[in-house]
Amino acid sequence: MTGISYIRAGWLIDGSGGPILRDVVMTITEGSITHIEKYSEQIVQHRKLTADFSFGAVMPPFIDSHVHLAMSGSMDQQTRENQLVAGCEELEPYIETHLEQLFNHGVLTVRDGGDRDNCVHTYLNRAASLKFPVQVITPGRAWHRKGRYGGLIGRCPAQGETLAEAYLREEGHTSFIKLVNSGLNSLKNYGKETAPQFNAEEIRMLVREAEKDGRKVMVHANGKLPVQEAVEAGCHSIEHGFFMGRENLELMARKGCFWVPTVCTMKAYAEILSYQGNVNGEVVARKNLQHQLDQLRLAREIGVKVVLGTDSGSPGVLHGEGVFEEMKLFTKAGYSLEEIVQSATSLGAELLGITEAGLLQKGRPADFLVTRGTPAQLPRKFSYLESIYLAGKPSEIYLKNPMKHVQGTD
Ligand SMILES: [Zn+2]
Repeated sequence: MTGISYIRAGWLIDGSGGPILRDVVMTITEGSITHIEKYSEQIVQHRKLTADFSFGAVMPPFIDSHVHLAMSGSMDQQTRENQLVAGCEELEPYIETHLEQLFNHGVLTVRDGGDRDNCVHTYLNRAASLKFPVQVITPGRAWHRKGRYGGLIGRCPAQGETLAEAYLREEGHTSFIKLVNSGLNSLKNYGKETAPQFNAEEIRMLVREAEKDGRKVMVHANGKLPVQEAVEAGCHSIEHGFFMGRENLELMARKGCFWVPTVCTMKAYAEILSYQGNVNGEVVARKNLQHQLDQLRLAREIGVKVVLGTDSGSPGVLHGEGVFEEMKLFTKAGYSLEEIVQSATSLGAELLGITEAGLLQKGRPADFLVTRGTPAQLPRKFSYLESIYLAGKPSEIYLKNPMKHVQGTD
């Protein structure tokens, strides 16, 4: 019968965080999953398998909840500086390449962390349809306090204006508002915290206004006070959250605030500083990294909703590939494969408000990734996908893409 297919998978990781299912057959009808059952000889006597992936695992496409599409993850200073001064038109081919890289790593949804000139937003509005079907949510430009960190990705409220007033003055907001409420992490002094950029009341007013329009507020915050203020003000996610401490994690768990820890950025800094021969810098970055891994472990115990985001586009963090770097760090912090996939699928979908994505279950769209190898070989083998299925069919774009063959070395 047309419109129905049967796909066998050695393992199915459904994105819910529940146990991995072993050797199943998915029935797909008109692009949706209509049945999932244990494989047996009897099943294939009656139904001809459309595809047999008994050698590999299937799971929902990944969501990277923190990227910067307008920047490459290059470690080359000159490339970074060129991109930072480039206009939107110049950045378009880069944005397209980043979407290609994401797609080829099975990352089909991203939330951007902002860019100074709103180029990602402009690109999305200009492109009639994207060459690489990656769903992009972007806050456009971030808000930061004048004279404080944030100029690279945003702008500040006008003189004498509160955050909420600035938000209300501007139009064209998308589903997320990005706020910067601290500085960057020090790579010279371990654990050095910066002061909050705004006060809790001002953030609360912004959150209130944003929520009236069904929008969420994502907050860049490192250190105890900047995080505490943002969480108490009702923000929806903390980005980075280095050195926020146990009390903040407990507060986030109580309030259902999501955490996007972007651990891999610090690993990348440690590697860059090592390469540059900056011994002290590398030591500090490695200590920062260890502290963040400890917080990540604690968040799991406390029950914080941790969502995977890479901050790709920041130094040394590549689009797409960064997801697997982050996953490996989650493994180090004690997360199971099921939990890691959940962070990169259904929890990300919950934060981003995309109800149709993130789970591979009956009644859901038959969009999924096919990996080679057993779960024991994951997340390592995520970087080489066997196939990407969209609405029950293998994606032509992925199959034709030469990058697949370049990566397929093992
Ligand atoms: Zn960022």
